[in-house]
Amino acid sequence: MSPDVVIVGAGPAGLCLARALSGQGLSIVVLERQAESALAEPAFDGREIALTHASQTLLERLGLWSCLPAEDVAILRDAQVFNGPSLFALKIRAEQVGAERLGHLVANRAIRRAAYQAVATCPDIKLLCETAVDKLQTLDSGVRLCLHDGRQLQTRLLVAADSRFSETRRQLGIGAQLKDFGKSMLVCRMAHEKDHHQVAWEWFGYGQTLALLPLNGRQSSTVLTLPPRDIERLLELDETAFANEMERRFDRRLGAMQLVSSRHAYPLVGAYARRMIGTRCALLGDAAVGMHPVTAHGFNFGLTSVRLLSEAILQGRGSRQKIAAPVTLAHYERQLRLATWPLYQATNLLVELYTSEQLPARLLRSAGLRAAQGLLPLKKGIALHLTARA
Ligand SMILES: Cc1cc2nc3c(=O)[nH]c(=O)nc-3n(C[C@H](O)[C@H](O)[C@H](O)COP(=O)(O)OP(=O)(O)OC[C@H]3O[C@@H](n4cnc5c(N)ncnc54)[C@H](O)[C@@H]3O)c2cc1C
Repeated sequence: MSPDVVIVGAGPAGLCLARALSGQGLSIVVLERQAESALAEPAFDGREIALTHASQTLLERLGLWSCLPAEDVAILRDAQVFNGPSLFALKIRAEQVGAERLGHLVANRAIRRAAYQAVATCPDIKLLCETAVDKLQTLDSGVRLCLHDGRQLQTRLLVAADSRFSETRRQLGIGAQLKDFGKSMLVCRMAHEKDHHQVAWEWFGYGQTLALLPLNGRQSSTVLTLPPRDIERLLELDETAFANEMERRFDRRLGAMQLVSSRHAYPLVGAYARRMIGTRCALLGDAAVGMHPVTAHGFNFGLTSVRLLSEAILQGRGSRQKIAAPVTLAHYERQLRLATWPLYQATNLLVELYTSEQLPARLLRSAGLRAAQGLLPLKKGIALHLTARA
């Protein structure tokens, strides 16, 4: 088989790229380790993805947005940030920039299902599941892949979209700056007594970080960051004991709480690839930029990489032979770095400062929040970034 493009990883980023390249006279293969049934009906994984207006626009263009069930999409109107036990909050409001909302929260499971549906009917996209790349070799004319199941493929362009711990990135000899935050994040859905008014919370407490992502009705996705051993203990508690502990950790600001989903834990490791491209290959999604979830930008950046790579390939493609031309890929790399590097660094700095338990850092955290609350241009800038359509 000699497809024009092979994408390794049928996660949301890989599938969205396949969809973005479909219908342009290219043949596309997507390789995935999981079974096709797991892509068609993904299991709930606890992640609720905050999507910016620009991401929504791209998902609409790719035909995914209309496939999202209404119950899996919630409005994210405003956001507020707390520090320590104080009730003072830095508030980012959509109305500051004349918008109705900062964005939406969409269950990751729903995004994955919609992405599968969007490619399943495209005749130019072939999904090869329950397989992986054993060996790859870069040739003058393309990249040769030997698969786990013995099949061989040769492609003009190889795209690695196989997560922040990408094996393909490694096989290509591309390094990544990995940042292990030494913490885990527990996510689950909880019902609560008081209304959230569609406002997201980021709460940098002392000894823990909490987030609340408003879902439909009086339910939220609750996100708790602690050292891994503490998260393991919480995963083992029975439902009532867990709900009681979450109520206490949220200082009863939401009243009584009740667990309404399974609980999921993720190790917190950031990743930034040292190069986004190589000869006849490119990195996409988390394989290129794996963000700490605190600024909710991982998949938003994944979609940015989809847009930039598909535009570079389709605009630069005078002929099929040129889809992996060095100039095309270099353009992609430049644009992706420009779009992601500043926020990647700022996110890591924010996490360092707001999870430090040292007294000077605690004082700086509080002062920083109060200063930011008085800075209308800063707050407007954040709201504009989230609500810009492109
Ligand atoms: C708790 C949490 C909350 C988050 N919240 C947000 C948010 O609010 N907003 C936001 O924008 N982002 C958020 N993110 C980030 C977002 O979930 C990721 O950025 C996004 O899922 C990355 O998509 P991807 O397709 O690049 O990678 P993945 O989703 O990791 O998919 C990779 C795919 O590749 C497959 N694969 C892996 N290795 C191989 C291999 N060797 N061969 C073949 N297939 C392989 C996997 O099975 C998988 O299907 C959050 C993440 C977490 C953990």
